[in-house]
Amino acid sequence: MGVVIDQVTMQVVRYALEQIADEMGYTLVRTSRSTIIKEVMDITCAIFDAQGHTIAQAHHAPMLLTGFEITMVELIKRFPPGTLQEGDVVISNDPYLGGQHIMDIQTMAPVFFGGNLVGYVGAIAHQSDMGGAAPGGVAGGLTEIYQQGFTNLNIPEEYGGSGIDPLTALIITEEIARGCSAVATSSSCNSLATYPILIGGNEEQKQRFLRPIAEEGLYASFCLTEPGAGSDVASLSTIARKDGNKYIINGRKQFITSANVASFLTVFCQSGTAKGHSTISTLVFESNTPGVTIGRKERKMGLRASTTCEVIFEDVEVLVENLISGEGAGFKLAMETLNKARPTTGAMALGIAQAALEASVNYAKERIQFGKPIVQQQAVQMILADMAMKVETARLLVYKAGYLMAKGLPYTKESAMSKCYAADIAMEVSTDAVQIFKRVWLYKRLPGRKVYA
Ligand SMILES: Cc1cc2nc3c(=O)[nH]c(=O)nc-3n(C[C@H](O)[C@H](O)[C@H](O)COP(=O)(O)OP(=O)(O)OC[C@H]3O[C@@H](n4cnc5c(N)ncnc54)[C@H](O)[C@@H]3O)c2cc1C
Repeated sequence: MGVVIDQVTMQVVRYALEQIADEMGYTLVRTSRSTIIKEVMDITCAIFDAQGHTIAQAHHAPMLLTGFEITMVELIKRFPPGTLQEGDVVISNDPYLGGQHIMDIQTMAPVFFGGNLVGYVGAIAHQSDMGGAAPGGVAGGLTEIYQQGFTNLNIPEEYGGSGIDPLTALIITEEIARGCSAVATSSSCNSLATYPILIGGNEEQKQRFLRPIAEEGLYASFCLTEPGAGSDVASLSTIARKDGNKYIINGRKQFITSANVASFLTVFCQSGTAKGHSTISTLVFESNTPGVTIGRKERKMGLRASTTCEVIFEDVEVLVENLISGEGAGFKLAMETLNKARPTTGAMALGIAQAALEASVNYAKERIQFGKPIVQQQAVQMILADMAMKVETARLLVYKAGYLMAKGLPYTKESAMSKCYAADIAMEVSTDAVQIFKRVWLYKRLPGRKVYA
């Protein structure tokens, strides 16, 4: 039997709950940057019972709540009691889970009392207003990933970037790679090209290059690798010869991600007479500078949605003001850049491994042999358990690297470990997935095939 309370007490409780919902709304308004949230208050916040039914709502835009309750009930089905802990927040932008005339972002957080789940609190705002989409854009009109704010994760807000912390950036990269590692490669290639500017560039260079990259969705490529210089970076042979107030660049770069769509190139060259670490310099310039040719586009066995090209420099004239951090500083810049970028590659590998695991579990549940799903065979369960364990350990290492970076603590060791380990795990888990799928993985349309190549 429920608790019987008099009407006065009930009104007091009701107003108290509405005050809480209102306060949630005002907090969202105070902490947001979007005009439509800050000034129009086109959001709503509410408190729900343990079944997802509304018990109090904020006064901001109550009509938004009509679809929100549908979402809450669906989210509770997906995250039933026992799956969420205090402090967890579920964020959804799934248009099939409810929403209004344009796509929305809904948040849901469980509320506990005495260790028991007693209800949920949530907030809803249009997706384009949450800071994800391009200014003025609506989700349905998005054509490029940068409009969602998923590129340039390393660029601070003062230069038009997202300014988010490195750990969150890794989680975003992991999620993108879980869907498609080639898209993750494309969406994160700007980081490689912009880190040298962020690390060693002067203010004028940061404004000139970072701002258009972040604000106009332009691409930039990191041009280090050459036919004769892969791991051995110091042996690169592209030459930048100083001639008055400019450098004249000649050479050839290889395996350069997104070079065919890049507006800017960050290029590592030998600027001295002898080859070696101490004579490498870094120049950043427009890709349409006369003398730059984008050469062969590699036909890769995987990552085909990300382009990888040759870049050829023939008497390319670049002003000395495009030199980053002085002559001879290039090797250190390259190493510091790779140091920062390695966990991103680890996160991509992690996303691939996670996708392989999920595809394998789903397939093992569906595939019937010997009269039952193969997931019921202990030998298959053991493969899946090992896969899950490897994915989780890789995740811990990648997240640890991100955490250390976010805290400003030394991360060189964890950065290298996270890339190396997660990449190995991605290979192992994808190979295990092939064992689960067997003949079926050869079919291109199946996810088991996609994560392997
Ligand atoms: C999809 C893709 C995108 C890329 N994008 C870019 C980009 O945007 N910009 C860019 O500059 N480069 C890019 N690269 C190039 C990449 O950074 C190089 O592949 C990498 O530096 C390794 O060089 P390599 O392939 O020539 O291998 P190599 O250096 O030839 O190495 C071959 C093998 O030898 C091993 N090896 C080498 N040296 C040693 C040693 N001292 N001790 C033990 N083992 C060793 C390596 O571990 C490896 O197993 C890309 C590559 C790929 C595959």
